[in-house]
Amino acid sequence: MRPQQLTPLFATAKSLAGIGPRMEILLKKALRLPPGVGEPRVIDLLWHTPAGVIDRRATPTVAEAVPGTIATLEVRVLKHKPSPRGNTRAPYKVTCEDDSGRIDLVFFHAERKFIERQLPTGSLRTISGRIESYNDKKQMTHPDYIVAPEARADLPLLEPVYPLTAGLSGKVLLKAGRQALERVPDLPEWQDAAWLAQRGWPDAKTALLRLHRPEEAQDVSPASPPWQRLAYDELLAGQLALALVRQSLKSQPGRRVSGDGSVRARIADALTFALTNSQRQALKEIAEDMGAPHRMLRLLQGDVGSGKTVVALMAMAVAVEAGAQAALMAPTEVLARQHADTIAPLAQAAGLRLALLTGREKGRARAELIERLAAGEIDILVGTHALFQADVHFKDLAFAVIDEQHRFGVHQRLALQSKGGQGRKEGGAGVLVMTATPIPRTLLMTHYGDLDVSKLTEKPAGRKPIVTKSIPIEAIERLIERLRVQLSEGAQVYWVCPLIESSEKSELAAAEERHAHLSQIFGVNAVGLLHGAMPDKAKDATMAAFAAGVLKVLVATTVIEVGVDVPNANIMVIEHAERFGLAQLHQLRGRVGRGTRESFCMLLHKAPLGDAARQRLEMMETTEDGFKIAEKDLELRGGGEVLGARQSGMPEFRVAAVPNFEELLAAARDDARLVLSQDPHLTSARGEALRLLLYLFECDEAVRLFRAA
Ligand code: ADP
Ligand code: MG
Repeated sequence: MRPQQLTPLFATAKSLAGIGPRMEILLKKALRLPPGVGEPRVIDLLWHTPAGVIDRRATPTVAEAVPGTIATLEVRVLKHKPSPRGNTRAPYKVTCEDDSGRIDLVFFHAERKFIERQLPTGSLRTISGRIESYNDKKQMTHPDYIVAPEARADLPLLEPVYPLTAGLSGKVLLKAGRQALERVPDLPEWQDAAWLAQRGWPDAKTALLRLHRPEEAQDVSPASPPWQRLAYDELLAGQLALALVRQSLKSQPGRRVSGDGSVRARIADALTFALTNSQRQALKEIAEDMGAPHRMLRLLQGDVGSGKTVVALMAMAVAVEAGAQAALMAPTEVLARQHADTIAPLAQAAGLRLALLTGREKGRARAELIERLAAGEIDILVGTHALFQADVHFKDLAFAVIDEQHRFGVHQRLALQSKGGQGRKEGGAGVLVMTATPIPRTLLMTHYGDLDVSKLTEKPAGRKPIVTKSIPIEAIERLIERLRVQLSEGAQVYWVCPLIESSEKSELAAAEERHAHLSQIFGVNAVGLLHGAMPDKAKDATMAAFAAGVLKVLVATTVIEVGVDVPNANIMVIEHAERFGLAQLHQLRGRVGRGTRESFCMLLHKAPLGDAARQRLEMMETTEDGFKIAEKDLELRGGGEVLGARQSGMPEFRVAAVPNFEELLAAARDDARLVLSQDPHLTSARGEALRLLLYLFECDEAVRLFRAA
């Protein structure tokens, strides 16, 4: 349970004055909410960091005020000059003065009553806004602030400016933010005192206050002490959560899983190729890890086409040799099926009992499968997240492989895994996460902590380079002619259809249109269509027909992005390639170049190209190296997004996106480790405070774990 003192911060934002249902909708757009959070809360306003400040500290006399600058003036209201009757276009003017001169306040479409109430004739007012000059007279159009002497404190001399959404005014946000600040309780110090002193950082509450009520313009810079402090808080919370999860996994009664190599030998015999050195090395690392007396959590990283599936199968075979079971979980139905199909002949040759469980298996068949699983009559279970349904029990699961993992939320997965640990035997399972995204070291650290990593650095022998060409859509006729020749020689083609902004329907329509078009040219029986909205059976049938070479051309939406493996397919056409991100293009291209045929990737684009799009397509033409592409991707998009919101539905950071992020991250990681080594149960005073920090950054899952321990 979240500690009481944080309760006010996690109340709905609607509990703040000025935030009603309409504002709530706008806030939801303006604030980046963590996944699973439906409505904005008070704390989300605190993490909504200013993008800059408006400096209202200049307080000249009217005569001194410089047109074009922002100033705050002390004036007396002299007289009102309403717009002439019937002429609503002429502004309402209010003349004000101080001892040095006069200035007109100008209002368009003003409500007379409102202005009269704000600026009674003869009253003293502080006004703030941009000074203008009109016909040699000074004026201020729609002052940002008009306050009476007694409300002077409401006028922020350094006003934070927040990223907005259309319809949401800065004032509303400012007002809500102020109320949010008032709810911040006194917080115990969770950071090391010496570290704080060394950095010159304020305490957390002061940092929040300074960020939202800046005293210096620099206070809202990501390099400022208050911001740095909060960034470090967030990173430490994240690293501590990961370390806790990891500690809890590793401390669970480890299980040595090792075998005599007999099943692996039979699989190797059934393979038509020899394993690459990379694959052998990775297998060795994995097998050693499995044989060690702790819980295994390892990442297998390998570019598309590097042959991760075989490694996974061999690793699962180790568990079977040990007399236990193994599971392989894929993010999509298509992929799960594909894995099962790939593995099936090898499993059969090796005498392994294989089964598939996805959301599609239902009724009797499902019940039977579950029974066999519980009885230990299934050695390897392949499936989607359906594997984790509550009624799915293994007799003895020793090892689980999770494919293309970054599509699931990391914290969720870790939690899932440890949930299995409570009383269920399969909780002891070692886990291997497979990913094709070459994750730069820093990002890896943020997401997985210091995870063990095995890498597949070489591609299987005999792979030919993929010729990649970016061509304008106008050249489509010529491309089709070339395809005709290729097809007559036995080639197979993937044709990926454009991703149309946010509307799945039109993406589908485009694919259908292209399918009809190509069917006319290459024949109805030679062209298939695959999209996400298709009935499952039809999907399978289409994939199978393409894999068997019956279909020559497969028109698809991006459903084929991950993992699909048809070695004979050697041409990838991507329409509107300019709309895809680099990582996605690389993934798509990885579907070809797997067989013996020369392979091509045609990037059809619509001119003119924006700068980033041009760079992406050029990069694709220049290299096939997944790491280089990932680096370029990082450069073009910024780290947060690569593994962040887009892929996992998780906003990367709330405040930690600062320039010296890497340095802070490394420090936070070391700090987290040190803390846990000295205070594994977080019972010291600092430990207690750190628990609060975990709750503040919503790492509740980690705290729960730790409670269970
Ligand atoms: P990914 O790493 O993208 O998941 P896959 O496991 O799907 O790659 O492998 C891609 C293709 O390479 C498959 O057709 C697979 O059978 C083949 N393959 C895997 N290992 C080797 C190897 N050592 N030699 C030749 N082909 C291999
Ligand atoms: Mg794969």
